[in-house]
Amino acid sequence: MSYLNTQNYKLPDIPARYADHPTYTATDFNKLASNRLEPHRVLPYILLSVSVLSFVYQLTQSQKNEVNFMHDANDSRHPISNRLLAVLPPTEFAFIQPHLKEVVYEPGTMLARAGDTLRTCFFPNGGMVSLLCVTEQGRSVEAGFTGFEGMIGVSVILRKNEMPYDALVQASTPGFTVDAKVVLDLFNRGGVFHDATLRFAYVILKQMSQTCVCNHYHTIESRLCRWLTVMCERSNNRHLKVTQEFLAHMLGVQRTSIGMIANSIQRTGAIRYARGRVEIIDLERIRASACDCYRIIREEQDKYLTDSNFTMSDIRQTNVGDMRDTNLASPQELSSGT
Ligand SMILES: [Zn+2]
Repeated sequence: MSYLNTQNYKLPDIPARYADHPTYTATDFNKLASNRLEPHRVLPYILLSVSVLSFVYQLTQSQKNEVNFMHDANDSRHPISNRLLAVLPPTEFAFIQPHLKEVVYEPGTMLARAGDTLRTCFFPNGGMVSLLCVTEQGRSVEAGFTGFEGMIGVSVILRKNEMPYDALVQASTPGFTVDAKVVLDLFNRGGVFHDATLRFAYVILKQMSQTCVCNHYHTIESRLCRWLTVMCERSNNRHLKVTQEFLAHMLGVQRTSIGMIANSIQRTGAIRYARGRVEIIDLERIRASACDCYRIIREEQDKYLTDSNFTMSDIRQTNVGDMRDTNLASPQELSSGT
């Protein structure tokens, strides 16, 4: 049977505005009618079309998800905001992705002690982890800190699977742990991860050398203000749970000194201090009272974070001849003492 019965079909009147357009005759409809749309012929094409459309839809969705997963790193709600992971191109990210184990570490968690063997590395998505140098008598001082911009266990890329310092969680820190061997394998591929981790290692070196100066030359009050400012910013919280003893450990000073200085700052109205709790009332004033190290470390971190296209290519292309043009002493000059 035909789905288009042309026997009794009457062509409609053609409106005057279409008079010049081509028109169809009964013969044309007979031709159309000969192309019968039988169900058993049409069904396979419909099914095939649905399958192709479904496949294309799923493909675009997966690509869309992958793009979001990789490039929404500045969105704090996003599962990956760790800098070292977020900058990876798809091929490098695909290498490490199966090894990412999601974790959340709460304040007070000691991730590793100095001298521990590194079997896993930790990539924070936020929060703050203090890097502490400890004496044999157990006294400590904060030498640096890291969060979403870096990793714990960067010594792995230096072929040293030993922690050089304690790593203590200060603010609730979500992130990913990865087997240290996987991290080293990815580093050895010489791609973006390689360059980004070296750049991060430089930031840590810079931070630690600055902290060394800070601990020796800057006043306890300005160092305490620096620490409170960083902690407030990193935890996104003005209510900090810290005892005088804890702050004394972070700054490497006597507990009594912290008590006197905290009372002094409290009298200005910038903080409210009670048993084991500090409330930052005037963050701007605390920030302004922080030593220069706050600004210097912050600027170095900002440079690193905005340097998304950083590569080592310019350094790799420097040959020995170029270096001889500088004022650097040659190895022979150094060995001969000239
Ligand atoms: Zn300082």
